[in-house]
Amino acid sequence: MNHGNVPTSSLCEKQAQADLLRYLKQLVRENPFQSSFEWVEGHAVERKGWAACDLMERLNDKADRLAKKALLAGYASDEYIHPDLPFEQVRIKTGGTKVTGSIQKAVDKHYGHKIAQQFYDAQHIISSPDFNLVWWDGVELALLEYPKMFRVWLTKHVSEFAGTNAQLSYWREDVDDPTCQCCGEAIETTMHLTRCQSPGRRKMLALTVRTLTSWMVDTGVDVVLVDMIEEYLLAQGEKTMTECLRLGNADYELLAECSDRLRWDSLLEGRISSLWIQIMKPVLLDSRLYLSPRKWGIQFIEHLLNITHKQWIFRNSRVHYKGLDGLTAAQHEEIFNRVEELMYTEPDDLLPKHRHLMEQDFEGLAEGSAVERQYWIVRMESAVAAAKQVRERRDSIRGLARLTRPRRRRDQPRHRASNSVVYQRSRRRLSNDEVQQQRRQALNNENNNYPATQNTSNPTPRGNSPGSSILRRQGRPPTT
Ligand SMILES: [Zn+2]
Repeated sequence: MNHGNVPTSSLCEKQAQADLLRYLKQLVRENPFQSSFEWVEGHAVERKGWAACDLMERLNDKADRLAKKALLAGYASDEYIHPDLPFEQVRIKTGGTKVTGSIQKAVDKHYGHKIAQQFYDAQHIISSPDFNLVWWDGVELALLEYPKMFRVWLTKHVSEFAGTNAQLSYWREDVDDPTCQCCGEAIETTMHLTRCQSPGRRKMLALTVRTLTSWMVDTGVDVVLVDMIEEYLLAQGEKTMTECLRLGNADYELLAECSDRLRWDSLLEGRISSLWIQIMKPVLLDSRLYLSPRKWGIQFIEHLLNITHKQWIFRNSRVHYKGLDGLTAAQHEEIFNRVEELMYTEPDDLLPKHRHLMEQDFEGLAEGSAVERQYWIVRMESAVAAAKQVRERRDSIRGLARLTRPRRRRDQPRHRASNSVVYQRSRRRLSNDEVQQQRRQALNNENNNYPATQNTSNPTPRGNSPGSSILRRQGRPPTT
């Protein structure tokens, strides 16, 4: 037994039950008598049987059984011995709770808890005094059951950084409509996800709530609480839990009150009140389900998160699911809206050669494929743009004409077979003398721009032989 035999050595940082071992070392150090320790095999009775064990092994077995009994009694009555040991020299506590394991871990956890409390308060999710009403241990345990990406989704959802339309319209230039694409009425924030009133989303909500309530009935939850939860969830935040509690006792009223203080979003994001566990404890002990209150709480959180996550999946299937013609429902709608806008274009606003686009059979276009509609939109948009360009150009030519009379150059209208008009800019032709002068200038520029050779004592005449400029380009010294 290393700890008792070496009472002056320090404990390792991650030592489990460090408070007890530290206390043992302290007692050994302070004891005026010499202590010695002997190893006794653990669980020897289970391995060898009672008769084959010596006295120490039998006493060890007895101590084990007494410890288990005390633990079960403490768990059933919720009464445990005080963690402070008599004459203990050092006690480390974070937030009033004694640290029995890694101090670093305990300080980390305590600090994280404090920062989370400040964050939830600052974001108006949970006010600081109500923060400890949440069963945070359960939230942590429940999330351990999920893959990492699910936890990432929940973090984004809680901190309101999920890719909802309200958020996307901040981030992306191509998204300018923050409204919900399912109901088309409200701004799609993360809070709207569980409050959307579109029929499809309501149906999905009812389905997931039914899954939750039937699980509650199966695990022996009082029918009063099941009815309360069902009514509360289907009201989508329009009713308080207290309003949904029809019958019940003081415990239920307190539970409803606590849940109301934590608000709708907390419940739907798995932050349940610790009172749920206290209420379910006696119920589960009496039942034959072999389900601990902790496990029940974790399953409850999972069912609640399922409701929110299904709403998010439903929303995404509407926005991202590629259906007919490889387009989402929202994209089909956008195409129809654009056709509707363009079909009211004045034919006179188009160039004559594009006016036939307005003779389109719009009924046939509506019934045809999305690709046909997209083609028509593209052709219409380019026709509108072309007409606009011609108009602008005509205006600018008229403006210039006034300033630069007499005109030497002007745009020539050219008529095509299709009766359309194309304006082409005429180029002034150079005279023969001007062409010759430009060529001479170019040749001089080429020779003058070329750097002189490094050997200054043997200057090379420029352009004295037809090959000299080529050789210089290749970096060789010219032959003289
Ligand atoms: Zn909506």
